[in-house]
Amino acid sequence: DVFYRELPKVELHAHLNGSVSFQTIEKLISRKPHLNIEHGMTAIGKGQRRTLDECFQVFKVIHQLVDTEEDILMVATDVIKEFAADGVKYLELRSTPREEKNTGLTKKRYIETVMKAIQQCRKEGVDIDVRFLVAIDRRNGTEVAMETVKLAEEFMLSSDGLVVGLDLSGDPTVGHGRDLLPALQKAKNCGLKLSLHLSEVPSQLEESDLLLNLPPDRIGHGTFLHPEVGGSASLVEKVVKNNIPLELCLTSNIKGQTVPCYAQHHFKYWYQMGHPSVICTDDKGVFCTDLSQEYQVAASTFGLSREAVWKLSQSAIDCIFAPDTIE
Ligand code: 5GP
Repeated sequence: DVFYRELPKVELHAHLNGSVSFQTIEKLISRKPHLNIEHGMTAIGKGQRRTLDECFQVFKVIHQLVDTEEDILMVATDVIKEFAADGVKYLELRSTPREEKNTGLTKKRYIETVMKAIQQCRKEGVDIDVRFLVAIDRRNGTEVAMETVKLAEEFMLSSDGLVVGLDLSGDPTVGHGRDLLPALQKAKNCGLKLSLHLSEVPSQLEESDLLLNLPPDRIGHGTFLHPEVGGSASLVEKVVKNNIPLELCLTSNIKGQTVPCYAQHHFKYWYQMGHPSVICTDDKGVFCTDLSQEYQVAASTFGLSREAVWKLSQSAIDCIFAPDTIE
């Protein structure tokens, strides 16, 4: 529907390697035929579902395909242009810096290459403002988290405002937020904005409570925070009291099976309460979607008028991490 495509949109929750399109995957596969990777291994098609665990296997396959500076440059450039073509005017991309011994890629080079892609798109006049969040993969523990924060801080100071914050993501069933608290606290103290994946699975009540005390600047998913799904009133109260926006990714949660169907998505709970809720894609490549489609699904599932959709999209601007005056 052209209304949703033309609607000026803000994307706040997009993992770089999960956002790689079919076309870009084709190019990567042709660069690395020896890996014997096929399309079915990098995306979850219409009507298909996977366990969350299987979704994380998909990321491993994509990481095999994206392991050089050239790959990252191509992937980031393509992803930015695709978001722009979908009517996204402001994009916060996030990615976990990786070191690849085989290709000589370092974490620093990784981030520099993403910066280069953002700058190239800007030079070419692509109509989108892009910022970057450095991601911590929770699986990698305390020390790596601390190193990542240091790296993010360096880039925050040297990247001309492109690096604005930190993301905490990765398999929610692995590791505990308690071990990452010092790193997250340090990030906050040095002025990095925090977007944390919170309560993505039901077993994270204690961790969410702990992390909400920071408090984070935004929450990814927050699927199991509210009492109706086994969360608690006190968790909800912390979110509401601190007015922490939620990044909500409908198709991702359906395909990853943490939410049984669109109608039962927690968007409804938070939106009805009038709490800042931002529609996002999460991994547009892996979940075969785009942001206009996500808005359309939200509108048809929850009966939103065009005016309400417009407002919803516009209110996302209040949740961005870039400072003050853009557009
Ligand atoms: P990358 O950071 O390599 O650019 O993007 C892929 C990574 O993002 C995954 O390895 C994972 O750490 C994180 N990620 C992507 N989608 C999800 C999600 O739905 N939940 C969580 N917790 N992490 C995700």
